[in-house]
Amino acid sequence: PSTLSARPSPIASSALVSLPLSLVGDDLTVPLVTGEQVRYTNLDCAASAPCLRAVDDVLASVLPWYSSVHRGAGFASVVLSDAYDDAREVVAEFLGARSDDAVVFTRNTTDALNLLASSLPEGTTVVSFVSEHHANLLPWRRGTHVQLPVPKSPAHAIALVDAALREVGSGPCLVAIAGASNVTGEIWPIEELATLAHWHGARLAVDAAQLAPHRAIDMAATGIDYLALSAHKLYAPFGAGVLVGRSDWLDAAEPYLAGGGAVRRVTAESTDWASGSARHEAGTPNVIGAIALAAACRELGTVGMRALEEHEEVLRRRATRGLSAIPGVEILSMWGPASVRVGIVTFRLRGLQPGLLASALSAEYGIGVRDGSFCAHPLVDALLEDAADARAGAVRASFGVGTSVTDIDRFLAAIETLATHGP
Ligand code: PLP
Repeated sequence: PSTLSARPSPIASSALVSLPLSLVGDDLTVPLVTGEQVRYTNLDCAASAPCLRAVDDVLASVLPWYSSVHRGAGFASVVLSDAYDDAREVVAEFLGARSDDAVVFTRNTTDALNLLASSLPEGTTVVSFVSEHHANLLPWRRGTHVQLPVPKSPAHAIALVDAALREVGSGPCLVAIAGASNVTGEIWPIEELATLAHWHGARLAVDAAQLAPHRAIDMAATGIDYLALSAHKLYAPFGAGVLVGRSDWLDAAEPYLAGGGAVRRVTAESTDWASGSARHEAGTPNVIGAIALAAACRELGTVGMRALEEHEEVLRRRATRGLSAIPGVEILSMWGPASVRVGIVTFRLRGLQPGLLASALSAEYGIGVRDGSFCAHPLVDALLEDAADARAGAVRASFGVGTSVTDIDRFLAAIETLATHGP
């Protein structure tokens, strides 16, 4: 059954799930402006989530075998090549990919979506919303792009896509949507959009950078044709990502990069390009990054994304309730307080610039958040009508496996003090 759904799940808010997952750097201490050292409270998991210890362990076991993949006959090379091939399988399984989907390792989500943009058949129309992260907006602007406004509700999003698809001619068409907003955390109605896209003969690409760390994904059951994500948001190191999806477009496209590894045979006059993932992975790949990403997928799969969802939902509700009770706090949302969200809460505090608030949280309380417009300028512009407010953006607190109730309470106490007394 599909485990990806925009429907709220029944969660007992009293029960905080204790996750048997530990992070590298769990017990970091950081200096305050007073010189005092305090435990670091990381509420910036949506930007980059610290590595799982299980990932660190896998890296420690793999690094002694450092060697080239698919390019050497030595034992170390065979070991690492096997581990790289295995990583592809693990990632595919974690995402519920179809058996014939391509799994192309990339640098990150941005790279994966640019690869997809460069692989679209001639004449493809891409339909997406202006509310997307720039990574899922700007690549499409290079081609034929129907850009929809910020929808007022999930049902409105479906209606807008339906109307757009009715207008698109008979050529190939791709609907490109975030699984979850990196600004508001709101989860998009992916399953419904997949059904709608397919009914119109279109395909659906999901930017899962913010969804994959928080929800189980089943591409085959949900009808997701393409999916992109970044390892550094999924508790693995920087520098690796993946594009998973239907191989026909990818096999027909020009290779993303031209070079060694992407070819079957080269003669003085001709190039016979490879098909499958190799076609778009020219050059020595980020083997270690791919293996680490797979290790994170395996560990999260073992613990269960459902447990992670429950853990984060308790924290998100606590943070939202606490923030809502502080005078002057405004929580950003496209669709209102009832929306289903991942562990992200973005807000403004009246009278305090977001940049100043974020700096004060760090310098005075040892709490790490992000402020600004989160690489989604049009969405922040739409959510904050005042132009000066929109330029300053908002503050985002985001949660993950390492976040505890204590972290949330420390954060809420800090905001309350800053709201009352200022920095
Ligand atoms: N899409 C979403 C929804 C994101 O939140 C991000 C990063 O914040 C990206 C895409 C881009 O990810 P990366 O910078 O790893 O390419």
